[in-house]
Amino acid sequence: NYRCRSAFKLLEIDDKYKLLKPGFNVIDCGAAPGAWSQIAVQRVNSNGANAEFPCGTVVGVDLQRIAPLNGAHFLSNHDITDPVTHCKLLELLPGAQAHVILSDMAPNASGLKEMDHEKLITTALCLVDLADKVLRSGGSLVCKYWDGALAYQLQEKLSAVFREVRTVKPKASRKDSSELFFLARSYRDIK
Ligand code: SAM
Repeated sequence: NYRCRSAFKLLEIDDKYKLLKPGFNVIDCGAAPGAWSQIAVQRVNSNGANAEFPCGTVVGVDLQRIAPLNGAHFLSNHDITDPVTHCKLLELLPGAQAHVILSDMAPNASGLKEMDHEKLITTALCLVDLADKVLRSGGSLVCKYWDGALAYQLQEKLSAVFREVRTVKPKASRKDSSELFFLARSYRDIK
C-alpha cells in the first residue's frame, strides 16, 4: 500500500530505467506524504529487508511534515533550496554522497499556469546546485516539471552536467496535465 498515487509514476520510471539499486543512497525531494520514499526504501534496501543485498540510504525532504517510515530518514519542514538543508543532507548520507536525486516537488498551485510553471522551474534549478554538492559521478536525477516557456532553461542547466537528459511522461501521469519529468543520467561522467 502506497501513501499516494504518485507512486505509480516512479514505479513506471524505475522499472524502465533501473535507477534504484540495492545499496544506493537516495535523496527524495518534496517527499511528503512519502510514497516515492516507500519505493526507494524497497529498491535500495535501506530497511535491510533483504539480508543478501547491500543496505542503502533514503533521505526525504519536504516543507511539510512527513510521517515516519522504516528505512527512511526524513527532514520535515525543510526547504530543499536552503543551503542549511544541503548541509544536513551531506551529514546524513554515507560518504556524503548520493547516487540518485528524486524530485516530485511541486509548489502549491495558484491556478495561474505561467506563474506555477515559473515557480517550479526555479525550484528545480536549485536541484542542480544540490547535485553539485552531493551527487556521485555517474549519478542520476529525476525531476518533475510543468511544461512551459522556461523548461529549456532547466534542460540546459541539466545538460551542462549530465551526459544524457531526456523527457519522460509516465502513463500514470494524467494526459491532460502539463506534468513531465526530466531524467538526467551519467552526472559528470566524462570519458
Ligand atoms: N512524491 C511524493 C509522494 O509520492 O508521496 C508526493 C510529492 S507532492 C506532489 C509535492 C511536494 O513537494 C509537497 O509535499 C510540497 O510540500 C513539496 N515541496 C514543494 N516545494 C518544496 C521545497 N522548496 N522544498 C521541499 N519540498 C517542497
